[in-house]
Amino acid sequence: MTCCYETIEGMRGKLTSGAISSVELTRESINRITDLNPSLNAVITVNEERALDAAAKADAARREGNSSPLLGIPMLHKDIFCTQNMPTTCASKMLEGFVAPYDATVVKRLNGAGMVTLGKCNMDEFAMGSSNETSHFGACKNPWDTARVPGGSSGGSASAVAAGLAPLATGTDTGGSIRQPAALCGITGLKPTYGRVSRYGMIAFASSMDQAGPMARTAEDCALVLEAMAGADPLDSTCSDQVVPAYSAHLGDCVQGMRVGVPKEFFANDLNSAVAETIEASLKELEKLGAKLVDVSLPSTSLGVSTYYVIAPAEASANLSRYDGVRYGYRCDNPTDLQDLYLRSRTEGFGEEVKRRILIGAFTLSAASYDQYFMKAQQVRRLISQEYEDVLSKVDVIAGPSAPNTAFALNDSSKSITDMYMEDVFTIGANLAGLPAMSVPAGIVEGLPVGMQLIGRRFGEVDLLRLAHQFQQRTTWHTLTPKMEERH
Ligand code: GLN
Repeated sequence: MTCCYETIEGMRGKLTSGAISSVELTRESINRITDLNPSLNAVITVNEERALDAAAKADAARREGNSSPLLGIPMLHKDIFCTQNMPTTCASKMLEGFVAPYDATVVKRLNGAGMVTLGKCNMDEFAMGSSNETSHFGACKNPWDTARVPGGSSGGSASAVAAGLAPLATGTDTGGSIRQPAALCGITGLKPTYGRVSRYGMIAFASSMDQAGPMARTAEDCALVLEAMAGADPLDSTCSDQVVPAYSAHLGDCVQGMRVGVPKEFFANDLNSAVAETIEASLKELEKLGAKLVDVSLPSTSLGVSTYYVIAPAEASANLSRYDGVRYGYRCDNPTDLQDLYLRSRTEGFGEEVKRRILIGAFTLSAASYDQYFMKAQQVRRLISQEYEDVLSKVDVIAGPSAPNTAFALNDSSKSITDMYMEDVFTIGANLAGLPAMSVPAGIVEGLPVGMQLIGRRFGEVDLLRLAHQFQQRTTWHTLTPKMEERH
């Protein structure tokens, strides 16, 4: 039996009926990783022995009557989550070979729910990037076309789920890193409200925006996983203690009359015209579900990217100061003195994009430029948040494209650094404002997937998930697969 493109919900049915065991599912995933990963480079650590052991334990627990919905389902973690007994590299030479002494809260919770961790996914170094090309372990490929990028920074996670290596991978989203790769790989990804999911043990990039979430085939699967991931954590003081709703129990709730705001700025020049048509067709599907489309405006959309690229590097420069060659991580050979140790360890351990961000961050935080850049960016962030809040007081959800284009070519020398930054023009607003947002497969343009983005009110994941779920009941985009094995 092959289950590779099965959803979590589908696998759960087969496990419950006894049609397959978790050990068999896990073996199948591992075999698929062995076959396909050489052409994808989506997975950078595989943990076969432990995975099979966890699967055997899950099978035993099921026999003893445990019916947890995620029990025995194989999955992968973005390599930004600390895992005990398995390397955590953040795709950086700086952390090559690093093994954390503890599990991240997200890891602990999914283990606790009985999931089977197969290994860790490739990503942009320290989650900085939109193409997964900044990884120290080499670029990851898009299974729909291996000459193209899977998006980033959670590119490995998106590529792995799209290729059927596992039905779930975790991701993190600071400026779009769950939604943009989900869109480019044709899967469903959810960035929760800031503070919905604990950041404990998740390597920090820009702490005021970083948020972990599920990347899966369907909204239904994202709902099941978010239920297990979310909720208060005494180890993260920014994690909210708001009660976690039973997201999966609300998927069928009526969407009749739901007001969906369509910001005109999301359909401006930056958007590829074929992508625009696809999104417009998807908006019509939302209308057929009974939703009411409302024209809205988010005039500061064009300021989002520049605001983010002041705030995120500033926070990154502070967060990454801990990699000094002394405590843990990469250390240069034969340092002559302490200064040389710092300088060479960081110069040799970090990649180009990470160093660029540290430099920008150190500059904007310096006494001479703090008011002009960092303070200004914080003020604009406030303005952007306010605009989202105003719009979301009139509509329930905002809808538009997740990314301006479909997957672009690997090593595209015509793409400048700022072109790359523009990939997140539609996703960054939700991070600056701390709002939940997701990307849902919405069409295919020239053989490549397109994602529709839904943005909700703070802690409004229930609305996003039910709208996305009902959209997926009407459409089949989320069921399309790249059919890697046929080309293989
Ligand atoms: N692409 C954005 C960046 O490079 C977003 C990354 C992210 O969300 N982690 O910073």
